[in-house]
Amino acid sequence: MVDSRNWFNIIPSSRQRKLLASRRDGVYIEVEGQALLNFSSNDYLGLSTHPEVIQATQDAVQQHGLGSGASRLVSGDDPLLHALEQDLAVWKGFEACLLLGSGMLANMGLLPALATRHTHVFTDKLNHASLVDGARLSGAKVFRYPHLSVEMLDMLLQRLPASRRLIVSDGVFSMDGDVADVAGLLALAEQHDALLLIDDAHGTGTLGKSGKGVVDLAGIAGHARVLEVGTLGKALGSYGAYVLGTTQMIEGLRQRMRTLMYSTALPVPVLAGAKAALHVLQRGFLLQKLQQNITYFLKQAENIPLVASLTAIQPVLLGTDAAALKAARQLREAGFFVPAIRPPTVPEGEARLRITLSASHEPQHIDGLVKALSKMI
Ligand SMILES: *Cc1c(COP(=O)(O)O)cnc(C)c1O
Repeated sequence: MVDSRNWFNIIPSSRQRKLLASRRDGVYIEVEGQALLNFSSNDYLGLSTHPEVIQATQDAVQQHGLGSGASRLVSGDDPLLHALEQDLAVWKGFEACLLLGSGMLANMGLLPALATRHTHVFTDKLNHASLVDGARLSGAKVFRYPHLSVEMLDMLLQRLPASRRLIVSDGVFSMDGDVADVAGLLALAEQHDALLLIDDAHGTGTLGKSGKGVVDLAGIAGHARVLEVGTLGKALGSYGAYVLGTTQMIEGLRQRMRTLMYSTALPVPVLAGAKAALHVLQRGFLLQKLQQNITYFLKQAENIPLVASLTAIQPVLLGTDAAALKAARQLREAGFFVPAIRPPTVPEGEARLRITLSASHEPQHIDGLVKALSKMI
């Protein structure tokens, strides 16, 4: 007999995911009654609690209430969506921008809009799950190339001709903190007449002098073959996502993305907060502080076996699930919240701690974490 108690196979306890109710308070996070220093958030600049962001959000709630009530294609298309699209396009150096519900929704809509079963999609093996699922949903033929390997991708492109081809990669990889050679990927896209889609969810607001991320750093923003997608939910401290590209491409996506058409538009206060966050980000102070913290952490953590990363994502590779869980528990006992990341989020045998740094951390917070890490590794 089947009922809801035995619908799923039993998951071994070491693989079970727990939803741990927690509340953030600045750089601290309260978990099960204990205040811990938070090294687990993607709110890299601390913008989710910035006074100007809070004020803008509050003002918008007062004026407009909360929910937007309908899809953008019906009556949810608030002028603020267009204003923020304009700001993001100008800042990132693209002709046009389209805002959507979240990064997951963006990619689940984007890939099926770009690719059909006649398209070949080439994706980095460590791409984010939203890109993997979007590609699957599109029905395209998907070819995965070894992580960061432009050479292997070149071989695949030579071997597998198709009239429509799309290369897809994270900018900064979410679990490793390493960075794709997006200029190299664009060179291949040009050589093989393909389109390039870069998801820079983690590079935006964290990388480069202006925080514009990987695509800008490589000098390929606004290129006619390049599409960029990103989230408002990480360094921008809010919720939602954007796609950047040429005017024609964005118009095409507006007509075709089902996750735009059939989903309620973002709440106006969420947009107002994101718009304020972008303005604070552009002043550069928080970005500088984050980058100083990354440099400081790398210097202090010289003796810790880190995965080489120059970004705000600093993984400590531990191998087995048990080792990662034990390390996370010990850190928690020492007052630090650092999540253990296990398969299937990362490959088998590559369980790890994923430390994320933020502009909200002070040097003494980093000192404390490094001390606790060195004690157990
Ligand atoms: C977080 C993330 C997403 C999902 O974005 P959300 O706005 O959180 O849904 C998509 N792609 C990458 C690479 C991410 O890291």
